[in-house]
Amino acid sequence: MGGKEPAQTWCPSGEAHTPESVVLGVRSGRDGGVVYLADPVPASEVLGDIPPDIEPRRILRFASHCVSDCVNRRGADCTLVERVMARPVAREDGSVPRCHLRPRCQWWTQTGVAACLRCPAVATRHRVDDTLAELVADPATTQEQLDAWIAAAG
Ligand code: SF4
Repeated sequence: MGGKEPAQTWCPSGEAHTPESVVLGVRSGRDGGVVYLADPVPASEVLGDIPPDIEPRRILRFASHCVSDCVNRRGADCTLVERVMARPVAREDGSVPRCHLRPRCQWWTQTGVAACLRCPAVATRHRVDDTLAELVADPATTQEQLDAWIAAAG
């Protein structure tokens, strides 16, 4: 008899179009910080309202299953959240977002509150001129490269 399967965790910077995808939050304000929904809304209920020339992940954050063939997976861990840790805390008051995903969130499972403090600033599709976001999103980026960029940026 096999052991119990580990619980399915969810990616908070996930896909919009997988069957289980839900809206995590809305990017809003001048800085595009995420405002989290109180309850999950199936992505399929909103995607049809987004104009075809807009990439949905530029304006919304979606959550979907954390999958073993993701470019960011290393064993059971997510390397994306390790790089997200290089970002500054998103909220000056240090408050933790109220978030419907927490009980099943891969980032929370892996790093706890440290991820939540940075999560609102993450854009699944970031602006092309946001170098730090590009480095964080790139699975090939090393911790040394992130540290060097942050040191150079002062
Ligand atoms: S990292 Fe925290 S705030 Fe972000 S989705 Fe996961 S539980 Fe929610």
